[in-house]
Amino acid sequence: FDEIKNTDTEVANAISAEMERQNSHIELIASENWVSKAVMAAMGSPLTNKYAEGYPGKRYYGGCECVDIVETLAIERAKKLFNCEYANVQAHSGAQANMAVFFAMLRPGDTVMGMNLDHGGHLTHGSPVNMSGSYFKIVPYGVNDEGFIDYDKLREIALEAKPKMIIAGASAYARTIDFKKFREVADEVGAYLMVDMAHIAGLVATGLHPSPIPYAHVVTSTTHKTLRGPRGGLILSSEEVNKQFNFNKAIFPGIQGGPLMHVIAGKAVCFKEALEDSFKIYQQNIIDNAQSLCKGLMSRGIKIVSGGTDNHLMLVDLTNTSLTGKEVEKLLDLANITCNKNTIPNDPQSPFVTSGIRLGTPAVTSRGLNTKDMDVIAEAISLMILDGQANCDRAKALVKELTDKYPLL
Ligand code: PLP
Repeated sequence: FDEIKNTDTEVANAISAEMERQNSHIELIASENWVSKAVMAAMGSPLTNKYAEGYPGKRYYGGCECVDIVETLAIERAKKLFNCEYANVQAHSGAQANMAVFFAMLRPGDTVMGMNLDHGGHLTHGSPVNMSGSYFKIVPYGVNDEGFIDYDKLREIALEAKPKMIIAGASAYARTIDFKKFREVADEVGAYLMVDMAHIAGLVATGLHPSPIPYAHVVTSTTHKTLRGPRGGLILSSEEVNKQFNFNKAIFPGIQGGPLMHVIAGKAVCFKEALEDSFKIYQQNIIDNAQSLCKGLMSRGIKIVSGGTDNHLMLVDLTNTSLTGKEVEKLLDLANITCNKNTIPNDPQSPFVTSGIRLGTPAVTSRGLNTKDMDVIAEAISLMILDGQANCDRAKALVKELTDKYPLL
């Protein structure tokens, strides 16, 4: 950090302010986390200097013998962690991993079913403003009135739409996903099943959410959410499916140039950490914390979509309050709690306003907070939602007690 200070005080000051912000705030954005010092160091390593277009053993540049070791370690560890035959660790992000799979398996104009964005799906699963929604004919599916994926309706829609691909996976869905049911529907209509497990990858790695590997033709993920690695993407499949579609070729030269070797080193370190027994305890703590936070909010009269959570996140339904998601995001920020506004199923508000907020526990769990602390957070959140700014000082004091107790820096 001193090196940055000596070279560029403006950037150093912004980083320093961000470190202070992270330390003084309770981080409840469900897709964020704190990486280990080892992952952080790998990302800041001299591997960022290296060009390595191609794959281990088959590069377009000389001097790749060391980065070959790193990428091979990342691939082998990813395969072991998720119990699969093929892994590509070069995708720069989750969106890139998804785009590569589409490039490999689909043609423009094909019909694709993805979860409705309003109901918890991701932008890359068919939003009109994303490449997926503009290149493919998207037919959405969603959740029932109770907030659970409606598998009967999914089948009905699939029988009618006859999609080439069904995408399972979400950004704001708090319940266990039944990948077997998805595969049954896909088989019935002759579709490929792609699972995007970005949010739940850490839970899947430790067996705390059923794995999509036995059911999906292809699985994509990010590495930086519950998995607690560097920002990046991942593609997994069987040898047979990869032989047919060649995902390596879809990534490079298909949609990317040179791989980010420093990030791939971070992924290798992350997978090693995730293979350790302690990682399973961490993932269980994430779930326990999410359930405790959920219970604490519900007992204070705050509505949760589907009435609970099975994973690391929950969706707060604000329709019984006079506030929008946008307003609550701002209110909580005043109390040093960071979250994001989020649409809820059949949201009457636009995605910029929303009637909900999404809360997740991976980052606070990494920081060391436990289920009792979650009740304190629930109290601070409910003070802000139910009593507004009048209680800001009290809520802020509760947050400060926690951030002082679990310092990050
Ligand atoms: N897929 C899902 C389910 C996600 O939730 C996200 C990000 O939030 C992505 C893909 C995209 O990941 P990235 O931001 O790394 O492109």
